Amino acid sequence: MRALIAGNWKMNGLRADAAERFAAFRERAAAATPPCDVLICPPAPLIADAAAALAGSGLLWGGQDCHAEDKGAFTGDVAAPLLADLGCSHVIVGHSERRGGHGESDTVISAKAAAAHRAGLVAIVCLGESAEERAQGRAAAVVASQLAGSLPPSADGANTVVAYEPIWAIGTGNTATPADVAEIHGLLRDELESRLGEAGTAVRLLYGGSVNAANAHELLRVPHVNGALVGGASLKPGDFWTIVEAAPH
Ligand code: PEP
Repeated sequence: MRALIAGNWKMNGLRADAAERFAAFRERAAAATPPCDVLICPPAPLIADAAAALAGSGLLWGGQDCHAEDKGAFTGDVAAPLLADLGCSHVIVGHSERRGGHGESDTVISAKAAAAHRAGLVAIVCLGESAEERAQGRAAAVVASQLAGSLPPSADGANTVVAYEPIWAIGTGNTATPADVAEIHGLLRDELESRLGEAGTAVRLLYGGSVNAANAHELLRVPHVNGALVGGASLKPGDFWTIVEAAPH
């Protein structure tokens, strides 16, 4: 399976910073075709800039969230059809900063993923346990339950990516060990196959949580890891591109 390396810029950077990064990525992609699919998810107001800067580069751009409804009186929210109209290929849903900071439940995330599918977008459905849940030995049960609750009936191998992001590893520098990642990704693959059948083998499984230029090569070779969701390191073009080039060829 071709890997996907996705950069989540979160709420960072101004237009000029984004323009510099877009140009740097474009230059690198032109110099050597990346060994994987590369996705950039800038803040929503910069998606039109991404579309203008990255069109024709082979690089993909996407949203960090969408609303569950296609349109309406939802001040401040972003509609999946608008993301599609801006040329996005993917949208992240259920990031732990949305689950935690905005109180989004599995049900809400499933509805958002369904909205992404209706708009023709690939939904990157995030899940992951807290430090407390891991310490209690409940990591596997928590992610299995999140997966069951967060995937809509429309999910299939082509329109859905699942990102395992243990909360304690996000933005902390504490990466999960390859053994921990292998265990959870193996479990997610089994759950996807039992739920979706053959399609479950085609869902890409990303690992996210302090992936950086130094640890990417090892993490990207863990069984059932089909790419990475990268936060902090995606803001540094050199580091992000090292991660891209670390993807298995
Ligand atoms: C993320 O926000 O999805 C993430 C994994 O962040 P970081 O790489 O900074 O841990």
